[in-house]
Amino acid sequence: MSKTTWTKIEEILSGNKKDKEVHLRGWIYRTRSSGNIVFITMRDATGILQATVKKGNLPDSEFEDGKKALIESSIELTGKVKEDKRAPGGYELQVTKLNVINFAEPFPIVKDQSPEFLLDQRHLWLRSRKLASILKIRSTVVGAIHTFFRDRGFYEFDAPVLQPNQCEGGSTLFEVKYYNDKTYLSQSWQLYAEAGIFSLEKIYNMGPTFRAEKSKTSRHLSEFWMAEMEAAWMDLHDIVEVGKDEIRFILKQILKNNKNELEILEQDYKKLKQISESEFPTITYTEAINILNEKEGMNIKWGKDLRTLEENKLADYFNTPVAVTNYPVEIMAFYKPRDPKDPKTALCFDMIAPEGYGEIIGGSQRNLDVEDMKKRLKAMGEPVENYKWYFDLRRFGSVPHAGYGLGVERVVAWICGIDNIKDTIPFPRTLLRFRP
Ligand code: ATP
Ligand code: MG
Repeated sequence: MSKTTWTKIEEILSGNKKDKEVHLRGWIYRTRSSGNIVFITMRDATGILQATVKKGNLPDSEFEDGKKALIESSIELTGKVKEDKRAPGGYELQVTKLNVINFAEPFPIVKDQSPEFLLDQRHLWLRSRKLASILKIRSTVVGAIHTFFRDRGFYEFDAPVLQPNQCEGGSTLFEVKYYNDKTYLSQSWQLYAEAGIFSLEKIYNMGPTFRAEKSKTSRHLSEFWMAEMEAAWMDLHDIVEVGKDEIRFILKQILKNNKNELEILEQDYKKLKQISESEFPTITYTEAINILNEKEGMNIKWGKDLRTLEENKLADYFNTPVAVTNYPVEIMAFYKPRDPKDPKTALCFDMIAPEGYGEIIGGSQRNLDVEDMKKRLKAMGEPVENYKWYFDLRRFGSVPHAGYGLGVERVVAWICGIDNIKDTIPFPRTLLRFRP
């Protein structure tokens, strides 16, 4: 017997299979019957297609199975593709053979259920068109990031997920029992990356990152994927430009590969295209404060970190992402160096996304002054001796270097135009949830 050739629904919707006989497999997305006819909307990973099952066109037992099968039953269909303007996508299948692989039980997800219920049913909810579309976009974003860095001569470099020290502040560490000792889940790849650049110079990574965020926000996950880069010989200005290029590259890949998904999510293609072709401004923190106070009527004191509210106001002011550099050094991590030209500030930047999606990138040039770092670590109550290996990097052929981290989920949320970061990752972990 010859092997069956399976057609994907997208091939049918592209018009290539008109009037041809095809074999399809997938799941029942919707079904409705009246007398001697069953209308099945079938879905596979590539789309949905209307199939008409008419008694007499196929063996009676298969017709009865088709009538009986509930949504989410897995099926194989054979039939002829017909153009039909009324069908979604413009084509329908006239079924001549129907085989139910699994008769699904009544599906627990119906219309208008609460977000919490849907999160409990996440393993099933992943099949929704909305989540499937977001996950396809996520896949493009991840692929684009790898391509972006590899095309520019960066090597992929992995850091341990179990780390003995903090990188981003002790309050968000997840502690893990480690034999008779304890360790922490990675908050960032960075400190290890700084060791890697002495061997590979330009490196990147994308990996799971863990922060015990103690407040409920629509932008923070406890487990998220950060795409980080680190490069020898680069300064703040250089990495800000790399970050802008990376975002434009990601957008271009989305526009090329995910037009359908953007449409399903009702996201504005033209708006994203325009951003992908724009220059993004760079301003200093001090300029940002001035804009907020003078143009937006706020009253922010110099020295405070920008909160969600301020970031959103600032975003309103620009139609593209904006890079904000030179935050007050006092509120920055120990590895962010003072700017010699403006010592109250650090050589660091955040990239703020438009429309209130907040910070999508955070990065800096790296501190080369071991005494300064020791002082700042001590002030935080960190045991300085734990960082001995890190300070070694400043003792053996130290070079200027810089790097940043991009939050994959924040970028996906912004591109998809969705209001909560939870839907950008298959199984979200937050302050209140780590199941299923
Ligand atoms: P925020 O101020 O929003 O908490 P951060 O300053 O802690 O961000 P960085 O340490 O600079 O963030 O991390 C780099 C990037 O990782 C951020 O720009 C953001 O896109 C992403 N990110 C940080 N924390 C989270 C989180 N809890 N969930 C999802 N993404 C995050
Ligand atoms: Mg944070």
